[in-house]
Amino acid sequence: MPAQSLDHQGRDQQAGVVDVVDVVIVGAGILGINQLYRAVQAGYSVRLLDQAGGVGGTWYWNRYPGCRFDSESYTYGYLFSEELWQEWDWSEEFAAQPETERYLNHVVDKFDLRRHIRLNSKVTSAVWDEGSATWTTGTEDGFQIRSQYLVSATGVLSVPQYPDIPGREDFLGESYHPVRWPKEPVDFRGKRVAVIGTGSTGVQIAPAIADEAASITMYQRSATWATPLNNHPISAEQQAFLKANYAPIKAELDASVGGFLHKPPGKKWVDQSPQEREEFFETVWNSPGFAKISTNYEDMLFNREANADWCAFMARKIRAIVKESATAEKLIPTDHLYVGLRPPYVTDYYEMYNKPNVELVSLRETPIVKVTETGIETSDGLREFDIIIWATGFDFGTGAMRRMGIVGAGGLTLNDYWADGPLTYCGIMTHGFPNFFFPGGPHGAAGNNPRYGELQVTFIQDLIDFARAREQRRIEVPKEAEQAWMDMISELEAYSSFEKRGQYYGGNTPGKPKAYLLNPGGRPKLDEFMAKAVDSDYQGFFDTGRRAAATAEGVV
Ligand code: NAP
Repeated sequence: MPAQSLDHQGRDQQAGVVDVVDVVIVGAGILGINQLYRAVQAGYSVRLLDQAGGVGGTWYWNRYPGCRFDSESYTYGYLFSEELWQEWDWSEEFAAQPETERYLNHVVDKFDLRRHIRLNSKVTSAVWDEGSATWTTGTEDGFQIRSQYLVSATGVLSVPQYPDIPGREDFLGESYHPVRWPKEPVDFRGKRVAVIGTGSTGVQIAPAIADEAASITMYQRSATWATPLNNHPISAEQQAFLKANYAPIKAELDASVGGFLHKPPGKKWVDQSPQEREEFFETVWNSPGFAKISTNYEDMLFNREANADWCAFMARKIRAIVKESATAEKLIPTDHLYVGLRPPYVTDYYEMYNKPNVELVSLRETPIVKVTETGIETSDGLREFDIIIWATGFDFGTGAMRRMGIVGAGGLTLNDYWADGPLTYCGIMTHGFPNFFFPGGPHGAAGNNPRYGELQVTFIQDLIDFARAREQRRIEVPKEAEQAWMDMISELEAYSSFEKRGQYYGGNTPGKPKAYLLNPGGRPKLDEFMAKAVDSDYQGFFDTGRRAAATAEGVV
């Protein structure tokens, strides 16, 4: 790798210089750091670019109060190093953002990765050159870098989305989107706060600030099936258990469908009596995070009656917690069953509505008319605020890659190729974009994302190693392999419970094509497709390179 002088922020001192490395990675989040670790270990020269001022990706940007995991901390963290596992003590079952940001910084320092990272580097272009079989990647500040391989680890939830509400820019108070939360803590004391949106983010923030703020007004368009996260500190005994069981825990996670340690109950709703169901649902309600799905009745997602019964149980819980019945009724979803939208996991969310300073506004009953200089006007009048929090979601899955100016073989832009929705192989490659990989991209995951990402990062590094060892400079997923993965998505998507209006279909982003953006086959399908490629020595992945070379030599 050419010698590079980096300043204290990790930026090359001379913007505009064309650097040359083996691998450029975009994104210093959980998968970008993982890919960087693999590539450095394998002896490649690597430069990782991130638009942020620090590492952590999601866990750098989302520093809003209450932000925390809803996958168990130790199942979300890295498993590639037992030493790391042994030395890092997660403090809670579901760690909060500052701890995760510390963890990712610790990983970067432990493995001496920081010197490969250029921060404050927003990628604005990435263009493939067939002649040299390289990518040239450019950043907003004029830095350019050439590489044989380009890896976009830009995350599925990294581009914030604001709704098109008249007057949004007119508000003179403080406005925040959770994914662009300031580094300095926001002072809520004595402030009247509006939270727009009741997805996973809005319902995490509000309870965390409800005691500090003078008032909280929640603006809810769709009610969601939020259930308790059931977080707790990790006890000394549990810590000792985790340390003593690295290998079996890793093996269990590696063999799991969704990347969790949860055990399916081996029971179906249809086989149980009403009393058994009530007792079972009580256990599920008290289970941690996503166990509400993975340890629920095995027919819950496929039998509408079973799902509706679980929803009726949750509705009873909401009515029991929220004292004011009109508020409780507004909080109970009536337009979708469980996992129709991504369910949030909460701490003190429903309880918050019993505080005198918290109000719920149903936008179905009183829609927003406009935002004014002083507050929000709904059809029943104006409420004035000091702070508005726009917890209104993300351009999911493809948002970041669609904004990176990616141009592949023959001048084809990624945006054109994906005009009707992404076309991918294992959620990591797309035909026509040689030597380009995107672990953690659309179609990649549907569960505990780092566990899917780990498979993808490993596959990518192994594929690059294989190609290098055989002097294959050009890797391109064959169209048939991409089509096979897309066929799997179309076939299994039919079993998905998600509604088309939500983020997993791009339904929350105006103008975006409506296409399924998750991997409905889970980790087993990823394993199956990747094993097929590996077992066949990546059959077809180098053919287009041979054809291109032959054409250039006038052989065909
Ligand atoms: P989201 O789930 O898309 O929720 C956005 C919210 O904003 C929804 O309530 C939506 O209402 C509302 N909204 C959007 N446009 C609106 C408008 N014009 N007027 C009024 N309301 C509007 O976004 P999110 O809450 O940021 O969560 C996104 C994802 O991030 C989650 O699914 C999850 O994967 C991840 N996340 C994870 C955690 C965690 O615990 N680990 C925490 C936060 C987020 P509608 O539903 O009616 O559109």
